[in-house]
Amino acid sequence: MISLAPLHSFALNYQAADILTFDSVEDLREVAKHLDIFNKPHIILGSGTNTIFSSDYNGCVIKLESHGLSTHQDDEYFYLTVEAGYEWHQLVKWTLANGIFGLENLALIPGTVGAAPIQNIGAYGIEFSDICDYVEYLDKHSLEIVRLNCDELHLGYRDSIFKQQLMNKTVICKVGLKLKKQWQPITSYSGLSGLNNANQIFDAVVALRQSKLPNHIKMPNAGSFFKNPVIDKVKAKSLRLVHHELPLYAVTAKQFKIPAAWLIEQCGLKGRTIGDIAIYQHHALILTNTKSGTGAQLLDLVELIRNSVLKHFDIRLEPEVKIIGQSGELDMDTL
Ligand SMILES: Cc1cc2nc3c(=O)[nH]c(=O)nc-3n(C[C@H](O)[C@H](O)[C@H](O)COP(=O)(O)OP(=O)(O)OC[C@H]3O[C@@H](n4cnc5c(N)ncnc54)[C@H](O)[C@@H]3O)c2cc1C
Repeated sequence: MISLAPLHSFALNYQAADILTFDSVEDLREVAKHLDIFNKPHIILGSGTNTIFSSDYNGCVIKLESHGLSTHQDDEYFYLTVEAGYEWHQLVKWTLANGIFGLENLALIPGTVGAAPIQNIGAYGIEFSDICDYVEYLDKHSLEIVRLNCDELHLGYRDSIFKQQLMNKTVICKVGLKLKKQWQPITSYSGLSGLNNANQIFDAVVALRQSKLPNHIKMPNAGSFFKNPVIDKVKAKSLRLVHHELPLYAVTAKQFKIPAAWLIEQCGLKGRTIGDIAIYQHHALILTNTKSGTGAQLLDLVELIRNSVLKHFDIRLEPEVKIIGQSGELDMDTL
């Protein structure tokens, strides 16, 4: 059995049946050809910062730890080719050190490059979709390498084709990024305004994140636990009649995003604990494992939050993290 605690940032103390780690997609493909690993229970894992194991897992954890990075350029763009196992934050630092700008707003997002397209990572005004050129993956069925261009990935708010049609069907092995040489700072977020140097923006984003979010290495957590719900205009209007302070951010002319943290706070849940699982007292969207939390405690707290928000606002919160049970991902709506 393999200990899962060091393999995911929420660090619940469970075990998996097995683990396979590969240095290259070619090695992974060879093993898959001979051992049929993709037809047995398994999960592809990066750094486990968006994944929580809520019990022992009766399958094999597969990690692709290829770390290659190369670049080329034309008059307009720098093109980066980055392999799946490269750590995202290290990539951001590497680009700045090499005079390539455009990733600075995405500093300090934990996890691997291979996982970045899955939920279209984003922060401080930029999403992966803004800088994506293409993604290459190993098709688990055909064992062929397939390339999809950015416009084929259906990238949306914490969403992509890898959470829809291609869910559980691929191992992302390579990501292509495209960064404009004519760099423009993105400073719409408070705390960044007035900055026009990429290194300063990087430093400011790092400082802002460190002041708001608990360090997952010191205080196990999985970042934002729920997605910010998107509601239509009619619902927004009717909620505002009752909750005058309701914060609304326009997504389109007809859709609005509401901060899930605000909804949880309004339910009086900030700081609430069940056993060793807590709603972080400085940020209601973050759940933490304060000591020796269990999957049952986590699921109870998630249910309490979802039921409270549903009762107060008639809004169903959707988890942003993947919660894995004994046989695979749990469907929170059927628990
Ligand atoms: C403190 C903290 C702050 C965070 N802040 C942000 C933020 O600001 N913005 C944001 O968007 N996210 C944020 N996150 C979430 C997380 O950083 C991202 O989702 C990140 O992309 C996860 O990378 P990972 O390698 O840890 O993925 P994992 O948790 O290992 O995997 C996530 C999902 O992707 C799949 N997967 C992983 N690698 C591959 C692959 N090579 N091929 C196919 N499937 C794969 C897994 O099966 C799983 O379903 C934060 C998390 C933490 C802990």
